[in-house]
Amino acid sequence: KMTLTDQSGALTTVDLRMRQGTLTVDDIPRPAAPDEETVGRVRQIIAQVRAEGDVALRSLTKELDGVDPVSLVLGREQMEEAFHSLATELAQALTVAHRRIQQVYEAEVPTSSRVSADGITVVRRNVPVRSAGCYVPGGSARYPSTVLHTATVAAVAGVEHIVVATPPSPEGSVDAPTLAAAFVAGVEAVYPIGGAQAIAALAYGTESIERVDTIAGPGNLYVALAKAQVALDVGIGSSFAGPSEVVVIADPSVDPRYAALDLAVQAEHGPHGLAWLVTWDEQYLHDVDRALVAYVDSAPRLGAIRSTLANNGYAALVRGREQALELANLIAPEHLELLYQDGEKDAALVKSAGVTFVGIDGTAAFGDYVAGPSHVLPTYGTARFASGLGLEDFYRRQHTVLIGPSAIDELGWAVEEIAKVEGLYAHAESIAIRRRS
Ligand code: NAD
Repeated sequence: KMTLTDQSGALTTVDLRMRQGTLTVDDIPRPAAPDEETVGRVRQIIAQVRAEGDVALRSLTKELDGVDPVSLVLGREQMEEAFHSLATELAQALTVAHRRIQQVYEAEVPTSSRVSADGITVVRRNVPVRSAGCYVPGGSARYPSTVLHTATVAAVAGVEHIVVATPPSPEGSVDAPTLAAAFVAGVEAVYPIGGAQAIAALAYGTESIERVDTIAGPGNLYVALAKAQVALDVGIGSSFAGPSEVVVIADPSVDPRYAALDLAVQAEHGPHGLAWLVTWDEQYLHDVDRALVAYVDSAPRLGAIRSTLANNGYAALVRGREQALELANLIAPEHLELLYQDGEKDAALVKSAGVTFVGIDGTAAFGDYVAGPSHVLPTYGTARFASGLGLEDFYRRQHTVLIGPSAIDELGWAVEEIAKVEGLYAHAESIAIRRRS
């Protein structure tokens, strides 16, 4: 285990400079796993929504969000009205973000493939799911950006029906920026329902809410656990998009206030995030920490930042770039910043990060809004094997196999050989009968 040295600043220091050998996953502190009580509560909520439909949605929303939804379904008219109510600059910013996301994913639309050999042609098509439900977190912040970063990708993938569920505003509706973003992204309906109850409604449907084929989007622990519990009945994508994380690798070529703020950027999302500063310069580590303390003291979201940093805020001193990247790959963070000169060369060595930002201005805040790649990204170390939200979350790959007239002669014998050794005689005979006739 690493030795953690407590200090008076905002971050807990981890000194790796003398560490021998390669680091392992067990060296990395991780937030605690969910407790059984929360898992059980989520199970209860899902069961209640399946049994009682709209009635359950209303009573759970009253209990958990403290408000009675004015309507369970908000339509295009309300979205359009919200869009026109926005200040021009905000409407433009949402439109720009939408356009950039669209551009990135349009360039990624995969082509179908077709292979012909030995009398058989195999065609692969990408078939979009019929309907997608985007979960957009609410609660402690609002995320019109998440509407864009989920629904836009679904639309480019060709999904016909796209809906959004998000916790209600204090008035029991949905705030105008979120509704407006839904308008821009071509969303069909917005449900002012959050948490596990929203996931249950999307997965199983209620009187007012139609069930969807796949659910996308981030959320807190209740949302993440609910998705895991409905996974046999609905698509939930491949990544665990939980509380936000960042690893900032920086050196004195970057103003310490930049690095400090970039740590605060992800920490201000909520209390369970993760923020690491990684550097090879001891003085710089202290400078960033001091800048962070100075910012946090006057930060509007002081509570969220403080608790993230107190729970999971680290500053690692490493021998150099190589060890910095080794550590980053082990942490497998949602966001990685290479905030120093010549970071491009090192970007190729990054194997496990949701997304990597390179350059002195490479703040993940660009990624949260306008860079283009979806900000719905793997967290909790799942970037070791999972990717950010992409077109694949909304497609099914489907093969069509065309068996031509020469296939029986060219390949029938191989089927018979393997079928016989597996003891599957009907398999063998289905070929043999065709070879005989
Ligand atoms: P949320 O929408 O995920 O959760 C709010 C809902 O949680 C409420 O509507 C309520 O139904 C439910 N809830 C709260 N307390 C409960 C309780 N005691 N019992 C049962 N249900 C309860 O919003 P949030 O809480 O603000 O969390 C959003 C999270 O999403 C943050 O952690 C943020 O970092 C993360 N996020 C991640 C990404 C990503 O791509 N990884 C992007 C944006 C946001």
